[in-house]
Amino acid sequence: MKTYKIYTLGCKVNQYDSGKLSAQLQAAGLVMAGKQADLAIINSCAVTKTAMIKSGRMIRSAKKENPGAKIALIGCWVRASETKLAGVDFVIGGKEIIKQINRIMNYESGIRNKIQNPNNKNNKIIINSDKSRYFIKIQDGCEQFCSYCIIPYARGGLKSRGEAEVIGEVEQAVKAGYGEIVLSGIHLGLYGKESQLLYSVIPASEPPRKMRGGLRITRPYRTGTFGREPAMTNYYNGARDENLASLLKKLVKLKNLGRIRLSSIEITEVSDELIELIKNSGKICRQLHLPLQSGSDKILKLMNRPYDMNYFKNKIKQIRRVLPDMAITTDVIVGFPGESEKDFRATEKFIRQIKFSRLHVFPFSAQEKTSAAKMSGQVKEKIKKRRADLLRKLNLKLMADYKNKFKGRDLKIAVEQIKQNKVMGKTEYYFDVSADKKSLKNKNIRVGQIIKIKI
Ligand code: SF4
Repeated sequence: MKTYKIYTLGCKVNQYDSGKLSAQLQAAGLVMAGKQADLAIINSCAVTKTAMIKSGRMIRSAKKENPGAKIALIGCWVRASETKLAGVDFVIGGKEIIKQINRIMNYESGIRNKIQNPNNKNNKIIINSDKSRYFIKIQDGCEQFCSYCIIPYARGGLKSRGEAEVIGEVEQAVKAGYGEIVLSGIHLGLYGKESQLLYSVIPASEPPRKMRGGLRITRPYRTGTFGREPAMTNYYNGARDENLASLLKKLVKLKNLGRIRLSSIEITEVSDELIELIKNSGKICRQLHLPLQSGSDKILKLMNRPYDMNYFKNKIKQIRRVLPDMAITTDVIVGFPGESEKDFRATEKFIRQIKFSRLHVFPFSAQEKTSAAKMSGQVKEKIKKRRADLLRKLNLKLMADYKNKFKGRDLKIAVEQIKQNKVMGKTEYYFDVSADKKSLKNKNIRVGQIIKIKI
């Protein structure tokens, strides 16, 4: 029997893809290798230069760990790179991954017949993800073309799974004992929106751009929506019934569902309907991950982000009017080309003003094919590091301040770990807590369960 191993890098969407591929390979008759595998698959990440270096390292260590294996590369690097990578025997892209693997491994016909079609909509598979939380990919692709990001080139345009398919998989995850379901996607807020003509925001006078950042764009490029958000809302209405809010309304009605969390969405996609749903359903975690990236309008424009600071601030105010305790977490890039000390200070000030409950800080390290990598005003590594260190320090304070607000309150956690006498997990507000097992009424606690504890 042939054996395989999958090495995964990058985001939750990649992790989900690896889990799904693993289940499909097993259905096809392969066995997950204990030690050395016949086939080592590297699910790569190309989001930054650092991620690409890590992917290269992973290829080398997979080869070392599995000396006789065929090495196959899948994931974002496949489409983002034009060069053949050292150590890789096969580069697999597109939808027919299983069929391609089947050809590579040259299986006998009996096994080949058992291979599931990955595009079969009824193919519901429960993937072994983190035991406490079930990450489900409901959407893929992005058409925002932020100037520092390779993802739209690597993953292509917007694609959403149908509501029925998503609901079916969530039902199975709930049955399997997962307390928290995390809806994931590359551009999650645009779930169900691919049938709409986002491109209509391009002025008729502007010809579709064919090249950007040295890469070919096969679909028309959507211009930055900076300062155009009200119009954008209209473009997103109506053409397809399914959207994130409509899906959530159906999911929260599922029997025995613990709770749902949204992985990350753009601030421009937080609708009034979504805010009301979070408030009223009691099943959607009170946390929104809203990437800020910079607190300077000048830098946001260079990044081709779809909002300005005023918009961001007002939207947060609107969310907090309805949900004052809401956890707002974010991503920030420091040292983007052209980021002066003044721009950085504006970002720091804005972060303090908004009082985010958690920051993820990334020093700028663009993939060389993005337009940002070629911009003038590249910032020295030393300066990037200093700025990142400053914000990471600020993050520790923000996290502690936010958590302190909940002292004395009863909150529900999704149990992640039970070690000796301690039970650990995440609250719906996305901070970690632990409790003494003896202090809990329920003594039969298991990972994945949602339990109430005093903070
Ligand atoms: S929204 Fe921007 S940062 Fe996010 S995947 Fe799309 S292009 Fe990349």
